[in-house]
Amino acid sequence: MTETGAQPQRWQYIARVAVPVVASVVTAAAAVVGFTLWSARTIDARSLERQTRLAEHVIELQLERLPHEQQSITIWDDSVVHTRLAFDTSWVDFNLGVWMKQFFGHDEALILDDANRPIYAMASGKQIDPSTVADEMSDIAPLIAQLRTAMARSGPDIGYNVMTNAPPQVSDLLVVNGIPSMVSVSPIVSDSGQIPQETGTEYLHVAMLHLDATYAAHLSDEYMIATPTFSALASTDAARGYLPLTNRAGRFVTFFEWGLSSPGTAIVQQTIPVLAGAFLVAGLIVFGLLDQLWRKSQALATGRQAAEHRARHDTLTGLPNRASFDVKLSSSLASRQRDQHLTVFILDLDRFKQVNDTLGHKAGDDLIEAVGQRLRQLIGSGDFAARLGGDEFGIIQRHGPGLSEPLTLSHRIIEALGKPFELFGNETFVGVSIGLAVADRGDHDARELARRADIALYEAKASGRNRVVVFEEHMSEMLQNRHVIEADLREALRQGDQLSVSFQPLYGADAVKLIGAEALVRWHHPRLGFVSPAHFIPVAESSGLIEALGDVVLARACELGARWPGMTIAVNVSPNQLRNRAFPVRVLAVLRETGMQPTDLELEITEGILLEDANAASEAIHMLRAEGVRIALDDFGTGYSSLNYLKRYPVDRIKIDRSFVSQLSTGNVSVAIVDAMVKLAHALKIEVTAEGVETEEQRSILSGLGCNVYQGFLLSPPIAKSAIEALFRTQNERPTARVA
Ligand code: C2E
Ligand code: CA
Ligand code: CA
Repeated sequence: MTETGAQPQRWQYIARVAVPVVASVVTAAAAVVGFTLWSARTIDARSLERQTRLAEHVIELQLERLPHEQQSITIWDDSVVHTRLAFDTSWVDFNLGVWMKQFFGHDEALILDDANRPIYAMASGKQIDPSTVADEMSDIAPLIAQLRTAMARSGPDIGYNVMTNAPPQVSDLLVVNGIPSMVSVSPIVSDSGQIPQETGTEYLHVAMLHLDATYAAHLSDEYMIATPTFSALASTDAARGYLPLTNRAGRFVTFFEWGLSSPGTAIVQQTIPVLAGAFLVAGLIVFGLLDQLWRKSQALATGRQAAEHRARHDTLTGLPNRASFDVKLSSSLASRQRDQHLTVFILDLDRFKQVNDTLGHKAGDDLIEAVGQRLRQLIGSGDFAARLGGDEFGIIQRHGPGLSEPLTLSHRIIEALGKPFELFGNETFVGVSIGLAVADRGDHDARELARRADIALYEAKASGRNRVVVFEEHMSEMLQNRHVIEADLREALRQGDQLSVSFQPLYGADAVKLIGAEALVRWHHPRLGFVSPAHFIPVAESSGLIEALGDVVLARACELGARWPGMTIAVNVSPNQLRNRAFPVRVLAVLRETGMQPTDLELEITEGILLEDANAASEAIHMLRAEGVRIALDDFGTGYSSLNYLKRYPVDRIKIDRSFVSQLSTGNVSVAIVDAMVKLAHALKIEVTAEGVETEEQRSILSGLGCNVYQGFLLSPPIAKSAIEALFRTQNERPTARVA
């Protein structure tokens, strides 16, 4: 069997579900991270721009502030007086030198006379020798020249003030004596306009601020700029911003540097752990969901597979069911090679209904299960077995030419299922009937092939069960006419002339003394000719015609019996007849009407009725036996558990089935079986008839085993009423004769 609904593959699931989900989650995460980084970078870029502008602004402000601070002492009459008019070193040192350092933080101050000669110098808050500043003078000379030019252009001195009338001044960034500095040069002028001053003769004041660490610290305090520094080389540190400072002439002076504040990066640094946490949680949730989905889809697939398996299999035996069988048969026929042979088996248990009825449905189920197991063990690896329903099984076998393989398998099955089954502590016997249909070369129709196997099975049942029958064309014709047979049989019963009764002689005393006969119905069909009771008795039973038919046979048999008192006349009774509670009354009525002695009548029943409807059967048996009618158990040994029933239902005779008799030969196991049957029957004071005696060997073995009555083709086939009467007559004429 091949399973088609495959389990979903993990890789398929990963490809179809997991990858897209994970990809979208990762994409979303990447988008969020990307956007965050991009925003951070944008924020940082804007912030850098702002910080740079701030730095520029700060430097500009400083450059504007320096002259203002300076003018607080250069626009002052006292300064003019103490420099140009009467130079006073200590006054100058205190007010125009040291004070500038103390009050404004200026690093250097110079005072130049009208010829631009330094007459006073202060460095780092101390007066120094003015002759030592020659180098500085050359650096600031351009500024001095600019101022002098501006002074020459300005109007006459009428009194200056810082707010509304400031004199010209020049300030710029400069590298002075190797130190980047902010330099401002202002004239020392009168604020009252009362001191006469010739243009071009003003003394000048130079203020210098070093762009150094001290100044940087001051900027840091004042503008809250982080770690500002000035340096000749631009920083390569990404965390620091820098601004090249140039003077008005465009000459590079120094780099102004500071610790960059990067709010975007700060945000990212704060957000990333949170985001990472969120993504981790989201990832875990997605993973959990995917895992759950996988499990669910797996469970779903398993469930679907189980459902599919259930739909194709029989729950009891685990074998494929009828639907699978049909599919398999069709496909096997279609895919068959030219030289491949294929046979369909249909099997039906012989006594399943009895087991079900007497031991219960559970026992029936157990039996079916056990049968399924035995079949499984018997079939070959290339064979296919299925339970078709109820107690019916089917097998498809591929095999070589000829019928030997299907027949061998059939016989092995019959043998295996003939062995007892242990059900609820009881040893239970069931047989099996098998119908075979071999597919012809061109056969492709599965249904037709199965139908043929069914017909062969029917034939196997009709011809005594526990056997295998291979389909032949004439069976089909017979069976196609099953409903025709029923209608024709009804007609035959109405007319009466197609039906007759033959009688098969029964011999006692080592098969020499004629003691009676068994009545067997015969039907001469107007079109089909002689039809075997094996065919039409089952039709009569299933259609309800059996009672009318049984009445006809009983009447004819009793008519004969009445004419030959002392001769036993045996009549077959169908279970359906016996089930009718009126049956014993009718038998007694016929006996009375014909005048036959009840003790001459023997009714042959099959043990099936004892199993199927024990109550009705036992009532009828008791009533008839009470009147002297004898009861024989027909087909003994093929039944379900015959020996048990002999104790419970008293019978007068058993008829050992011809399947045992036909196998009797010296050394065969059936000798022992028949021996046991005869011994048991005799122990229970029951007589034994052997039916189907065909050879002298069988007769002599049976005689050795102590058999009481003999019936069979060896002695006589069933014969017409006139012929049996002739035999009876002869028998009566030779009361003691012994036939040679
Ligand atoms: P059965 O009751 O076992 O009847 C004996 C059958 O064995 C008869 O077949 C008979 O012809 C056949 N027979 C006798 N001697 C031999 C022998 O040496 N070798 C072989 N191979 N067969 C032998 P028949 O007449 O075809 O009847 C078949 C079955 O039909 C009977 O089996 C019986 O079950 C049923 N049947 C026949 N007549 C009646 C009837 O009137 N009423 C009922 N209910 N069933 C009947
Ligand atoms: Ca019989
Ligand atoms: Ca029989």
